[in-house]
Amino acid sequence: MPEEIKTARRKRVLSLIQPTAVPHIGNYIGALRNWAAMAEEYDCVYGVADLHALTVRPEPAVLQKQSMEAFAILLALDLRRGNNIVFVQSHAPAHCQLNWLLNCYTQFGEASRMTQFKDKAAEHADNVNAGLFTYPILMAADILIHQADYVPIGEDQKQHLELARNIAERFNGAYGQVFTVPEPFLGKIGSRVKSLQNPTQKMSKSDRNPKASISILDTPEAILKKCKAAVTDSESIVRYAEGKEGINNLMTVLAACTGSSYEQIERDFAGKGYGDFKAAVAEAIIEELRPFQAEYKRLLADKAYLEQTAREGAEAAQRHAMRTTAKAMKKVGLWGT
Ligand code: ATP
Ligand code: MG
Repeated sequence: MPEEIKTARRKRVLSLIQPTAVPHIGNYIGALRNWAAMAEEYDCVYGVADLHALTVRPEPAVLQKQSMEAFAILLALDLRRGNNIVFVQSHAPAHCQLNWLLNCYTQFGEASRMTQFKDKAAEHADNVNAGLFTYPILMAADILIHQADYVPIGEDQKQHLELARNIAERFNGAYGQVFTVPEPFLGKIGSRVKSLQNPTQKMSKSDRNPKASISILDTPEAILKKCKAAVTDSESIVRYAEGKEGINNLMTVLAACTGSSYEQIERDFAGKGYGDFKAAVAEAIIEELRPFQAEYKRLLADKAYLEQTAREGAEAAQRHAMRTTAKAMKKVGLWGT
């Protein structure tokens, strides 16, 4: 094993986000905010999963623009501090190299059990490509290639992480210690933020209804409007209870932004209507996002800086990724590696 990995090291954290659309507050609360909290304490590798985005065949110009914007979002969250790596997945081709190896150490049956594939296949019935099916194996390569100890994710990715663990254990079982077996890191609150329009489903970037999610770049006016239009119930009492998915979801978002408990929120809004409550949720989101949004605007105006930083991220990620890839290639018996 390379010396750097063998010696005692800080725990490593890895997570990627797809540039399929601007992240929503579900991504932010369930994942990005945890990334920022972990950026200080751990050795982190964060990135833009542009290869994953190809599974839904985006317009090339749109993919390019959104990848750069997603990269700027990661920088605006200050994830690059210390020795952390922030990169774009396709800039570190070792990810694809290891992906092929791992494809051969994943059983068709276990890949077939991924519920997200079933959901996404139904959503994109006109383009159920093999990439959509093998997506979790590329995700396993992303994680294992950087020897990640923790992967901050929302609940929707738990099953994929379990698959990555199984692949790692299988490979290590056959060839000795090659991969760190990663643990999921789920935030205490908000690991499954729901759609504002259909609160039984998760908030999702691929949801075509713009009212269903709040983007982290939405203006204060848009945030207020979407909160006001959120689906609730006819009870008019702010309390966390079964059957009140819309209110539960807004309470989760409010709790995540302010740090209040559900009990506290129930007390604060006793005797008040949903109108006041929704306005307070909107205000909390606006305040939470304000500093990030200002920094994002500043960075986006400096394309040269973004390009330079992406090049640096690519070099660091590829160098790091090749350590594990070279070892795995040797282990499986590829001649001359
Ligand atoms: P897509 O529909 O394109 O898959 P997505 O909304 O699921 O988009 P991803 O880029 O796949 O977003 O996920 C980025 C991170 O956000 C992942 O760690 C994922 O677990 C987390 N995440 C996604 N949706 C939610 C949600 N509704 N609540 C909390 N976390 C979420
Ligand atoms: Mg997703």
